Amino acid sequence: MTARRLVILGATGDLTGRYLLVALAELAAARFLPDDLAVVGVARDPWGEANFRRHARERLARHAPGLPVAVGDGLVERLSYVAGDVADPAVLAAAFGPDTSRSLAYLALPPNVFAPAIEALAAIGAATGATIVIEKPFGTDLASAKALNELLHRHFAEEAVFRMDHFLGKQTVQNILGVRFANPLFQPAWNREEVAGVDIVWDETVALEGRAGYYDRTGALRDVIQNHLLQLLCLVAMEKPDALNAKDLRDSKVELLRSVRGPTPAEVASQSTRARYTAGAIGDRRLPDYAEEQGVDPALETETFAEVTLFVDNDRWQGVPFRLRTGKALATNRREIAVRFRTPVDPLFGYEGHRPVNQLVFQMSPDRMVLDLALNGAGDPFCLEPAELELTLAPQDLSAYARLLVEALQGDPALAIRGDEAEECWRIVEPIVAEWEKGTPPLLSYPAGSAGPTGRTVA
Ligand code: NDP
Repeated sequence: MTARRLVILGATGDLTGRYLLVALAELAAARFLPDDLAVVGVARDPWGEANFRRHARERLARHAPGLPVAVGDGLVERLSYVAGDVADPAVLAAAFGPDTSRSLAYLALPPNVFAPAIEALAAIGAATGATIVIEKPFGTDLASAKALNELLHRHFAEEAVFRMDHFLGKQTVQNILGVRFANPLFQPAWNREEVAGVDIVWDETVALEGRAGYYDRTGALRDVIQNHLLQLLCLVAMEKPDALNAKDLRDSKVELLRSVRGPTPAEVASQSTRARYTAGAIGDRRLPDYAEEQGVDPALETETFAEVTLFVDNDRWQGVPFRLRTGKALATNRREIAVRFRTPVDPLFGYEGHRPVNQLVFQMSPDRMVLDLALNGAGDPFCLEPAELELTLAPQDLSAYARLLVEALQGDPALAIRGDEAEECWRIVEPIVAEWEKGTPPLLSYPAGSAGPTGRTVA
């Protein structure tokens, strides 16, 4: 049943202004918002409704500049505001009103406030009939993720909990399942006999951008690999679900995650890389050494680049390396999943290229699919050349955030992360975190604007 009330806990924060209000505006523009949906903001700032609406207008102007005025006005008129602490049930009672059914509580809050907010939601009876959206990070390790799940399950049914990962709203990410399971061409090749390896890469040109408070205690492994890239691994490697509903989809993902074998402590040094950027430039943008960014504690040795090789211990994937890599302040935005097939160029032919052939690449932002093949070139008919079959996908009708928000408003958790999935993801990365905290392998460095670490350690 579609929600009639959206209560944003943490309504004055960065996430609300940058993503949530923009997603709501997008849904309003696409006529996806139910006419009777009320949107209530809660934060401690002692604002009234007028102040909150002014703030929302300013954020929409900044982050959704092309929004038609009438759509922005219509959204702002739905907004109201309740000032107070989310740990106080009286504040939440004022925000939700007497009937908490068909309402959605969106926790756009700092993670240390999740637990008191959940307790207060339970105290006002929101656990019956309301759904709850939780932003990342879901815990900081396996124990804290388990504790948060226990708290949620004490009050809410799992189906009412939406652990948000906006990667799952991305077009290319959803496309992986269609390509894999709807095209008989690929199915016989999707296994260890034919696939030499899979690279899941999320390289970014963005650097710290003033987010030391969060990032310096998190790092690339936990910020990106633990959640987002493991989700991509699931979609590339999982078995075909019986149906595309929340239960079957997430059962398949969890089954896959349970088969993922991370490195043992002895293997961490050879199967993972951690590194931190030093001063450099990306185009005409000069960047300081990460260790000198405001708010950074260099002694924490937080990595801005992480790479991990994982294996999937099942019949389909035994022995195939899955390389997960992410980094900040790199030369280019490279966001892709490359499935590299084994077949070398047949020795019957010559080959003139240096590019890999026989790989299928799913690229994100912009969304493209590329199939690298070897073809007979224009010259010697018996000498092959690399060729790219490329498809640029039509732009998605809704952004990833808007897509996930509409699913949450409609109460369908298929694209949200289930509690056991979140725990499995922590189980996989935890032994790596433990070794990294002991200094193994050593922290490498790479200049901002480069392609990544090449073996130099941090001075
Ligand atoms: P901010 O610190 O910018 O905002 C936090 C919001 O929570 C503010 O509105 C703050 O207002 C409110 N708040 C904090 N404590 C309380 C309290 N006790 N009672 C009522 N309101 C409270 O954080 P972000 O918006 O950046 O992040 C929110 C969540 O989203 C975090 O979990 C973060 O990890 C996650 N996230 C953020 C992303 C981003 O790009 N910003 C991206 C992905 C996830 P006040 O202090 O006035 O009460």
